[in-house]
Amino acid sequence: MTRLAQTAGLNDIQREILATVRDFVDKEIIPVATQLEHRDEYPTEIVEGLKELGLFGLMIPEEYGGLGESLLTYALCVEEIARGWMSVSGIINTHFIVAYMLKQHGTQEQRDTFLPRMALGEVRGAFSMSEPALGSDVSAISSKGVRDGDEYVLNGQKMWLTNGGTSNLVAVLCRSDEGHPEGTPPHKSMTTFLIEKEPGFGEVRPGLTIPGKIDKMGYKGVDTTELIMDDLRIPANRVLGGTTGRGFYQMMDGVEVGRVNVAARGCGVAQRAFELGVSYAQQRHTFGKPIAEHQAIQFKLAEMATKVEAAHAMMVNAARKKDSGERNDLEAGMAKYLASEYCKEVVEDAFRIHGGYGFSKEYEIERLYREAPMLLIGEGTAEIQKMIIGRRLLEEYRFQG
Ligand SMILES: Cc1cc2nc3c(=O)[nH]c(=O)nc-3n(C[C@H](O)[C@H](O)[C@H](O)COP(=O)(O)OP(=O)(O)OC[C@H]3O[C@@H](n4cnc5c(N)ncnc54)[C@H](O)[C@@H]3O)c2cc1C
Repeated sequence: MTRLAQTAGLNDIQREILATVRDFVDKEIIPVATQLEHRDEYPTEIVEGLKELGLFGLMIPEEYGGLGESLLTYALCVEEIARGWMSVSGIINTHFIVAYMLKQHGTQEQRDTFLPRMALGEVRGAFSMSEPALGSDVSAISSKGVRDGDEYVLNGQKMWLTNGGTSNLVAVLCRSDEGHPEGTPPHKSMTTFLIEKEPGFGEVRPGLTIPGKIDKMGYKGVDTTELIMDDLRIPANRVLGGTTGRGFYQMMDGVEVGRVNVAARGCGVAQRAFELGVSYAQQRHTFGKPIAEHQAIQFKLAEMATKVEAAHAMMVNAARKKDSGERNDLEAGMAKYLASEYCKEVVEDAFRIHGGYGFSKEYEIERLYREAPMLLIGEGTAEIQKMIIGRRLLEEYRFQG
């Protein structure tokens, strides 16, 4: 057991789920993660194990065959999984966001069609806002959906789809003009379309191409892709929630829970980096003693552990706020910002503690060093989090002069 990152007030079911996931991570993920990552290999067996544990349906309501758990339980599981290998948490995350969006915003028919199979991991979700020319500035989206009888015709190019190849259901944000005349603000003229497709690469459905995997510096194993829509026809009942013009709001709701998830990943990766650092520091000797006995190294360990604790506390607070039904954009933005920055710093300290060996691919910290930067970017960069935090603070602390 670990002294750090404990969570008070969990019930028996939550504790049992977490103990099971931690055991799975220690036995099935950590021993193979670095090898698979170096080969950029999809962790098929791990994913099968996660399906058996029911993790793909963790937050899906029980009436649809899921476990109906809270965002907090989910985030704590993600923290454990990222401690083993961040890419595995990426495989679950977009699935979780799409399931959450369906649960919150889908029509009854959409929920009945997708959620039971999503809970089993048979339908696997990806979500797509980013395009080649934009990521932060979602209002600039140019992909378009145009109504044609009982169908929509979609055109445009999307970028950076996590699970773009392995998923068979993609929630895609497009501009849609129907009922939204010129001059309508961008956030009121966007629609989320639910696109079903075959997993794989190439033309996976008439009018829809997934060109191939983007070659990344880290976060390997999980596929990240482009998506090209060329007169892609989808039925009108695949507009999320049945009404156009609500896509921006739906996606932002999804991203908000996604931010807690990214914070949880930062916590998990930082914990693993601390574990590696504190272990190595007691084995490596310089000047006649373990480097852990040099005060400079002890100070590093102290700083690392303090950051692990602080990030965990903020992440748990943000998850609990959402679970209580309150708006949590401020807390989620703060948690995501702090956890990803601290994660990068803790990983770097663990890397320094390893000396030259940290630079060797034989040591796990090398992988973590390439993984941590992704958290600074995904689900909104640090600058975007600070914009959200700043705006919310000005709403809360309005000058009453
Ligand atoms: C591995 C990976 C997986 C991803 N998975 C997905 C996915 O599944 N689905 C999806 O839709 N997207 C995904 N993304 C895309 C990701 O969300 C974007 O990369 C991110 O939002 C940043 O957008 P950008 O890359 O276009 O950077 P830009 O928006 O071009 O920003 C470039 C720089 O400018 C800064 N900046 C931008 N605007 C401002 C401003 N107003 N003030 C101050 N600074 C600013 C940014 O912080 C950044 O430092 C993924 C990205 C990566 C790397």
